Amino acid sequence: MFFYLHIPFCRQKCRYCKFALTPKFDELKVRTYIDALKREIGDFFSTHPEVSIKTVYFGGGTPSVLTGEQIAEILDVFRRQKGFADISEITLESNPEDISSEYLDALSRLWINRLSLGVQTLNNESLRMVGRADSNGSIFQALDAIAEGPIGNVSIDLIAGLPGTAPEQIVSDLTEIFSRATPKHVSIYMLEDESYPASWKPHLPDEGTIRSEYRSGMEWLQSRGFYRYELSNFALPGFESKHNQSYWNHSDYQGFWLSSASFVGGERFANSSSFMGYYRGEKQTDGILSSESRNIERIMFGFRTSGVSLDELQNRSMVEKFREEGLLEVRENKVFPTSTWIFLIDYIIGELI
Ligand code: SF4
Repeated sequence: MFFYLHIPFCRQKCRYCKFALTPKFDELKVRTYIDALKREIGDFFSTHPEVSIKTVYFGGGTPSVLTGEQIAEILDVFRRQKGFADISEITLESNPEDISSEYLDALSRLWINRLSLGVQTLNNESLRMVGRADSNGSIFQALDAIAEGPIGNVSIDLIAGLPGTAPEQIVSDLTEIFSRATPKHVSIYMLEDESYPASWKPHLPDEGTIRSEYRSGMEWLQSRGFYRYELSNFALPGFESKHNQSYWNHSDYQGFWLSSASFVGGERFANSSSFMGYYRGEKQTDGILSSESRNIERIMFGFRTSGVSLDELQNRSMVEKFREEGLLEVRENKVFPTSTWIFLIDYIIGELI
């Protein structure tokens, strides 16, 4: 099974962020939280003794605010429950300001074999406007430590269209990043409109510019051997995120800690997103996914990832219409959105299912 751990602490809150977290934390708060995790994991394995551990993903929040000792303590809980015989990937999300050679060495000694680095942009003005704790100076230091460090499987997060970014920002950022380190995976996200505070409006690129930023970033990566295996995710072959793929193929996954979502035995549920609710053990559930909903989700995930079998789509006349209009292409009996119109993916899916 795939395990997600939500670390709800960040040194400061970015202005576009909607995750459940707090920038106010101290040793006691982290201690209380880790102790709650131990209970949660123990409860889970006592009711699911048959489960083996395939991946562990430290997400957040900013997992790299945890010390090596705290991460070791958490991983030890898993190890004592089941051992790591079946595990293939342990990922830790990190912010550049936390990365040093010593920290990377400590992580690699703990079996962490994949590091995800939240760069977002190298434009200092944008970093300041959106409230990131880093400057491009701390990002460069992190990249230099990574280049010399023991973890080879590194992913970089970028955001297209942040306020204040320059034209061709993504390509210029990728060029600089790859001149310092050799990431094997890159995610390029686009912010949703509702994430923008009104004060950003005068500084935002228009929608066409954001799309062209994403597209030129994609082409830059493709020219270096990367391929898009999900709408926002690009990897060299063999370096796809095994953990994230579990979300898109309906594998069972279990989230621990605040606000974490789970999908176990066909049921989707989530922990409370308030600390008090979480400590009281409150959960929200969507119930067991019906086979109709599962089919719809499979089609939605398919369009975002490896394509949808033509046989699964009932509305063939609409497929043909979209194909003629250049929105879809069909290869070896599989239907894909074209790169040009990938941004219309939600509209395309809405018309087809
Ligand atoms: S570092 Fe990441 S998780 Fe933390 S506030 Fe910023 S965007 Fe949100």
